[in-house]
Amino acid sequence: MDRSQWFTEICEEGGSAFSMKIREKLHDEQTAFQRIEIYATEWFGNLMVIDGFVMLTARDNFIYHEMMAHPALFSHPSPENVVIIGGGDCGTLREVLKHARVTHVLQVEIDERVTRLAEEFFPELCVSNNDTRAEFFFGDGIRWMQTADPGNVDVILVDSTDPIGPAEGLYTEAFYANCHRVLGDSGVLVQQSESPLFHMDIINPMRKQMQAAGFADVQTLFFPQPSYPSGWWTATLAGKQPLSETYREQDAVHTHIKTSYYNAAVHQAALTAPEFFHKALE
Ligand code: SAM
Repeated sequence: MDRSQWFTEICEEGGSAFSMKIREKLHDEQTAFQRIEIYATEWFGNLMVIDGFVMLTARDNFIYHEMMAHPALFSHPSPENVVIIGGGDCGTLREVLKHARVTHVLQVEIDERVTRLAEEFFPELCVSNNDTRAEFFFGDGIRWMQTADPGNVDVILVDSTDPIGPAEGLYTEAFYANCHRVLGDSGVLVQQSESPLFHMDIINPMRKQMQAAGFADVQTLFFPQPSYPSGWWTATLAGKQPLSETYREQDAVHTHIKTSYYNAAVHQAALTAPEFFHKALE
């Protein structure tokens, strides 16, 4: 086996690694914030890597992006004003803009280069970037949340890198308290929350911090993500109201939104936690 033909992400804390066969490296750049690499792979299409960690592949990103966007948007009674923190590849933005009720989406991404490279190498994720409802601000999401006006936002989606480097402060009670302040009465927050198999030490504190920040209800969604460590991933929802009361189930069932993974049954199924998860939360 010629190892130079393979990209490997090592997950130290999981004692494991995931490899994809590559055709060629398309781009490699150190920005002011992080190192971004783009590869053409044999089976996963184009691959974006930040600081050695897989961000997305063309083949399986639909699962992650749909599960970041649709459960949160259907859990709000009327999602009009949306903020995405991170999300520079624009896949979550594309899914959010599928909702006709949404009138404005602000994406606060710290590194403009991620978005520019997504436009070049993942154009299918950027098809809605010129939608008049979309606004881009390139800056720190933690800072933005500290200074934003209270009560104006319906849904906040935190589509960030792992809790290291510039994203570290996005996994704190202080950040969630600012999200709570910025959200309106029925506001919903969702954040990518890593692997249930490897990262209970991230998921458990995140849930507790969201509750401590004032959110009335917290739900964790489980879904497969083949190119992420362990192949199994989560996103955690936090609602200012009980999420089972604000969830628009009939809208999810009868939606005309085109998806490849999400539907109302998947939404319900994704909320079913495995036994070890309940035990870990005790
Ligand atoms: N789906 C991916 C994952 O879980 O690996 C995340 C994809 S998206 C590319 C993550 C983005 O978060 C990156 O583009 C990064 O620049 C951005 N980011 C990290 N920290 C941030 C911060 N403090 N404010 C805004 N964006 C941030």
